[in-house]
Amino acid sequence: MIKNIIAIILFFSVSLYCGEIEKYKNVNLKQLFDELNQRIEKVPEVKRLNESDLKNDPRYFLKLKDVDKKARTKLLELGFDIMEIKDGYITGLIPSDLIGNISEKEYSIIEKKSIYQWSSENKDFPAADSAYHNYKETYDVLKDIASNNSNMVSLFSIGKSYEGRDIWCLRINTTEKGTTPSKKPGALLVGNHHSREHLSNEMVLLFAVYLLENKNDTEIKKYIDNLDIYIIPMLNPDGVEYDIATGSYRYWRKNTNKFSGTKVIGTDLNRNYDFRWCKEGASTSQSADTYCGPNVFSEPESQRLRDFMSSNKNIKTALTYHSYASLVLYPWGGLDEQVSDEKDRNVFIKHAGEMAKILGYEAEQSSDLYVATGDMADWAYDKLKVFAWTIELEGNGFYPGSDIISKAFEKNKKAGLYLLSITDNPYK
Ligand SMILES: [Zn+2]
Repeated sequence: MIKNIIAIILFFSVSLYCGEIEKYKNVNLKQLFDELNQRIEKVPEVKRLNESDLKNDPRYFLKLKDVDKKARTKLLELGFDIMEIKDGYITGLIPSDLIGNISEKEYSIIEKKSIYQWSSENKDFPAADSAYHNYKETYDVLKDIASNNSNMVSLFSIGKSYEGRDIWCLRINTTEKGTTPSKKPGALLVGNHHSREHLSNEMVLLFAVYLLENKNDTEIKKYIDNLDIYIIPMLNPDGVEYDIATGSYRYWRKNTNKFSGTKVIGTDLNRNYDFRWCKEGASTSQSADTYCGPNVFSEPESQRLRDFMSSNKNIKTALTYHSYASLVLYPWGGLDEQVSDEKDRNVFIKHAGEMAKILGYEAEQSSDLYVATGDMADWAYDKLKVFAWTIELEGNGFYPGSDIISKAFEKNKKAGLYLLSITDNPYK
């Protein structure tokens, strides 16, 4: 599959930050995976939590007996951030000021512990996750592949995040560059709405590398020649950097917007879009991980994606990546009802099913497990008629370790190609 492998394997330091040397030159998948394996070998010890860090985090881990969909949706509104629904239990996080919301009459609490205690006991805590690309490394990879393929690739910022980081978009288009409009059908892949879902950045970033490395493959060449492909691996760079800033994970989900008059920060970007904003499954509490924001599109990152997509009306399909549940989801997420247009509904269901088959995941309507309003896929379909699917990647936690990257990518690159194959006409 992988052609044109250039036999330059650079030996990188374990450190994420190794000075200002040009880290990625003629980057290819083999190099990225070799680098990943070397990092895993060189960092044998599981990185434990920094004592002072999560100790001051006011969130609690709760394990509850599973409840019906309506009660799950209510949990989200009460500020409980559902992480997993499995084997008859729901697990998630809730800040201490909201924990009183979870009435013991309504919910049976099986386990309750501070996030510090819970994460210290968490056996899944990753070793050697420096294999994941942080903000700068992600940019460096994008920059390298853009400069090596300047006839068909351009790299531009869709605007700044709350803290002023550029949100990078790599565009593959053989005729138009930068922000010049294109008549070709467009496909968009977006990662990292949620900070701690680092695998989502990897899947989107590696897909860009993969496409360009295989640009002469007959099938891929056809997509590159005929489509307008947009790749935004990290929509929430502030949150990502915040999650890893101390050298151990913070289980951070939101962006880092600092509101006046309170110490708590951040809005859940995937509750901030304009589709039934802040109704079911979203919290109005600033401290909650499911906080919908002070108003619709209050956040720079969701605004940037809104403006970008609204000004590129040729975009027909999109994949937005999250983790972890091994699901392919389709609208509505913010409504119990199905998409009313029968043709469109069938498009969503059919292609979700096909991608799920490729991935070995399950396909379902986003609101099947619980209702969550204000998400990107609902907004994109409702306002722009973009067929947007949410891929909830695999894994057994937010930090599934490094070796999952190549495994997950083997399947996800095929699902990405599938999306491209239907982009010229999703109805076919
Ligand atoms: Zn997510």
